[in-house]
Amino acid sequence: MAYAVTLIPGDGIGPELTEATRRVLDATGVPFTWDIQQAGANVIESEGTPLPSRVLESIRTNKVAIKGPITTPVGGGFRSVNVGLRKELGLYASLRPCRTYTGVQSRYENVDLVVVRENTEDLYSGIEFEQGSDGAAEIARRIEAVSGARVPDGSAIAIKYISETASDRIARFAYEYAKKNGRRKVSIVHKANIIKYADGLFLERARRIGAEYPDIETNDVIVDNMMMQLVQKPELYDVLLCPNLYGDIVSDLCAGLVGGLGIGPGANFGEDAALFEPIHGSAPKYTGQNKANPMAMIFSGVMMLRHLGEADAANRLESVLSEMITEGREVTYDLLPLEQRDRALGTSEVADAIIRRLGA
Ligand code: NAD
Repeated sequence: MAYAVTLIPGDGIGPELTEATRRVLDATGVPFTWDIQQAGANVIESEGTPLPSRVLESIRTNKVAIKGPITTPVGGGFRSVNVGLRKELGLYASLRPCRTYTGVQSRYENVDLVVVRENTEDLYSGIEFEQGSDGAAEIARRIEAVSGARVPDGSAIAIKYISETASDRIARFAYEYAKKNGRRKVSIVHKANIIKYADGLFLERARRIGAEYPDIETNDVIVDNMMMQLVQKPELYDVLLCPNLYGDIVSDLCAGLVGGLGIGPGANFGEDAALFEPIHGSAPKYTGQNKANPMAMIFSGVMMLRHLGEADAANRLESVLSEMITEGREVTYDLLPLEQRDRALGTSEVADAIIRRLGA
């Protein structure tokens, strides 16, 4: 029977990448029925929201979704659809593997990292109070009353919270992932020296869960030091367990270590659903140019195939992608040195080459 999968094209470069990914996944021979659901800025006018409930219902029904990137306005405007999807569907764990493929233009070799990011809390809570609002004034008053600390007048305020339940849940996910995938070490990333209570709780709970996995080494690294360590000696690290905001930043850095955003896949897991998407955003400047690399989204498709239990198809597709990256003949601009970019293939031609190599 065909797998019913919700497919969200997104905006910017999203629709081109989604079409390339859909064609490649169909070419693996695994049967899919695609439930195409639009979300983002382009549905606000017709439906009054960038994240209509039909999208959530589709994912709740199908339990599996793959999506292209969706633009979030900076500063004002609507809140992130990406964050909304993760929160509404309880997709509490983000998994972002970053490994070097032979042939990729990168300063590093043999990087093989997995970022596990808590997806539902922290500064991403979406609880914010605008400068000059009654809410900001009230919160500032309450803070002063309960802590004695004064928030300067006219401040905007964002709330960071970290709970025991969510910390336990993401730590368990990271250690179970490490165990099932033969990983040797989990590094807990935090800033508990300064953010003593919130990050302190994350660290304490993660250590506690880690103690249940004696075969897996645990260490913890303060986030700023982690950034330097990753740039200097990424080979020392394996699974990086992060609260939400640090996880977001660390995963882009890790994508940069292994050749850029064009090949960085991601997945979001909850108790009832999984959503697969590239790490990168909608790269608006490349919209409609058939230029962006579809591999990050196709690698996300590889993760989806594994999640569905289609390991053979996942392995075949991954080895085709790996072979193409190594050869460097049929790739998009971002995988070529500057002086060779005039021979880059477009998004859809890369998909054609993958399909040909799959023998479809
Ligand atoms: P971005 O990832 O869209 O692009 C940064 C740069 O990376 C691009 O200019 C391009 O040079 C390169 N790049 C990204 N994807 C590429 C690809 N597939 N192939 C080749 N090069 C690629 O980051 P941004 O410019 O910070 O964000 C643009 C928009 O995307 C924002 O609105 C942001 O909120 C949104 N965003 C969405 C998601 C998501 O949907 N999950 C994730 C990140 C950012």
